[in-house]
Amino acid sequence: MQTEGQVWVGFDMDECLGQFLSLWPYCETLTRRLFKSQQHEYLSYVAKRLEESDQHWLFRPGIDSVLRLLVAAQNTGKLYGCFILSNNGSQNLVECVRIILNLRSQRFGAQDELFRTGWSRNSPCRKGDMKKTLAEIQDCLAYEGFPGARSLLFFDDMTHVLANEIPAYVKVQPYTYYTPVDLIQHILTPVFNRIRISPTLMKTVSTQSKTMEAADLKDTHLVKSPPRDTEWQEATMALQTFLQIRSAKRGKSVKTYKGTVKSSKKSISPTRKATKSRLWKRY
Ligand SMILES: [Mg+2]
Repeated sequence: MQTEGQVWVGFDMDECLGQFLSLWPYCETLTRRLFKSQQHEYLSYVAKRLEESDQHWLFRPGIDSVLRLLVAAQNTGKLYGCFILSNNGSQNLVECVRIILNLRSQRFGAQDELFRTGWSRNSPCRKGDMKKTLAEIQDCLAYEGFPGARSLLFFDDMTHVLANEIPAYVKVQPYTYYTPVDLIQHILTPVFNRIRISPTLMKTVSTQSKTMEAADLKDTHLVKSPPRDTEWQEATMALQTFLQIRSAKRGKSVKTYKGTVKSSKKSISPTRKATKSRLWKRY
């Protein structure tokens, strides 16, 4: 595939795509105990099990509307792919989340891998200073064999250097709702049985879970039911504008941050012409 002129959408992970603290002991411990060649297979088991269950709320509820838009854009050649850029210290967790998102995107007709890559704080291409910069993203994409990114939209619940370097930086409300560790353990039990995790490993996971659970109980954000996610609507609108795609209902106006843009070809074509000459798209 052509690598020049790629359009990318990037995401921060924690409290942006979702809240994955309770998943961490499973992804991290599993991958640490497995051979490299086995990791993807077993992480896929975990991902599949979580995908089959609607009992958890690891991902922010609004993520599906964004995935639907991203898949539509990728299938029509308007988007090359997505990536995760996280300052979380666990590359295994980032990879786990990436696999789950790719499985989830198949619900919406994904024909290709939507989330092509993901980087934790410890990835070889990262500088180790926790800054998120455009140069770092370009370096990381090139490191993965994706040079020549043309434009980028990035979602984060925090402001990083990148916010001043690209016009399409969307700061979202942090998603802090926590899925209890017990619930994750319940969902993943068949996976653990299937791969015959040793008692020692189970004990390790259990200990880590208990420690985290104890910490969670002090968390004022702990909830017992899936939350509403109204703030994410704004992110969806920004994405529609960036990708210059119509809303799900034909003929309906597409709302943007700055007023309303009609989705008919006539009214958005001047914008298209204007953005073509720019290196980085504006909305
Ligand atoms: Mg974050």
